[in-house]
Amino acid sequence: MIRRAPGSISRAQIAQSLDLSRSTVSAIVDQLVRDGLVVEGGAGLSRGGRRPIVLDINPDAGRVVGVDIGATHLYILVADLLGRIVGAFESRISISDGPDQCLRQAINGVERALGQAGVGIEAVSGLAVGVPGPVILEAGMVQAPPIMPGWDGYPIRQRFLDHWPLTIPVSVDNDADLGALGEWAYGAGRGVDHLAYIKVGTGIGCGVLINGQVYHGARGTAGEIGHITISEDGPPCTCGNYGCLEVMASGRAIAQRAQLAVRAGQGTRLAEVSPVEALTARDVAAFAQQGDAVAQQFLADAGRYVGIAVASLINLLNPSLVIVGGGVARSGDLLLDPVRTTVRERSLRSSYQSARIVPAALGERSTAMGAVALALNQTFGSFVSGAREAPPSAVYAG
Ligand SMILES: [Zn+2]
Repeated sequence: MIRRAPGSISRAQIAQSLDLSRSTVSAIVDQLVRDGLVVEGGAGLSRGGRRPIVLDINPDAGRVVGVDIGATHLYILVADLLGRIVGAFESRISISDGPDQCLRQAINGVERALGQAGVGIEAVSGLAVGVPGPVILEAGMVQAPPIMPGWDGYPIRQRFLDHWPLTIPVSVDNDADLGALGEWAYGAGRGVDHLAYIKVGTGIGCGVLINGQVYHGARGTAGEIGHITISEDGPPCTCGNYGCLEVMASGRAIAQRAQLAVRAGQGTRLAEVSPVEALTARDVAAFAQQGDAVAQQFLADAGRYVGIAVASLINLLNPSLVIVGGGVARSGDLLLDPVRTTVRERSLRSSYQSARIVPAALGERSTAMGAVALALNQTFGSFVSGAREAPPSAVYAG
């Protein structure tokens, strides 16, 4: 409650809201003050009589680290306990280099970001890592990840725990699930308790919040929207099936289609990129924004395929907000307009009318900010319960 109403809530208000006695609440709060997690602020609003003391989170009682390991990027953020960013590190990465190489880069990046924040690992009270594959939460590893060759069953969480001689809670979660959490906590989804976040990047993933909680499914792999079948006789996907959304509309798919078009001699400025193998979805987005009709068509097609999947998602879950993020979403309305049109055509009007489709407010930092939010949840969970680590499935989005 103090996290949600910083600097404006008193012991008496907490007691009233929770229907607990003032002495019970005071005993708990006094312990949190002694632990250094909560500080007493200035006087609150008085309604006659003594002015109550308001409570605040002590932002310096710890630091949390959010790590976003993408297919081609690494983003690391260090935040204080109010979620304010105090250090950051960013670099290119190739997920297909495998876990040894990538996690060495990630751990090195964490140390660089902590250095920028002016603290060491001993100040860290929670660390969360997002990866672009289906995560088995309890094991802290991925299972049969389509775009992460060499990572199947690798103990990702343990690798972080082994590196530092400290026991800090470390969680591994899917990048799109963390993206949903990040947008909910700090971005386009603030205050929206039924939302879906679709990450259209090198791959395509989805995180779903139901009643303000990330829906993980039985083992943690819910939301693999990238492997919904869009075209039964479509091209083969990395997962072994055919015509999945990911192989039709991901950044990788857009790049491949663009390369084919250039090789076939289509009249497009995409041919200016040399060599043709270097042509990426980023180039397609850039030329589309400059008016290249062929590039615009690739984004429109991708948007239509994403729209087909989103229409099903909306019919199934009735979210009030669908947030589209990831690298390809940088194209803005060139991608989003065909998504909206297709969703309007293909979903039930009752579901469609209640759902807005918007770009991610945190841009490419949705996942890293979600990792910060998860690490904060762990930190507060372990302080309050005295346990070092709550079961990941029980982590509450707020
Ligand atoms: Zn697939």
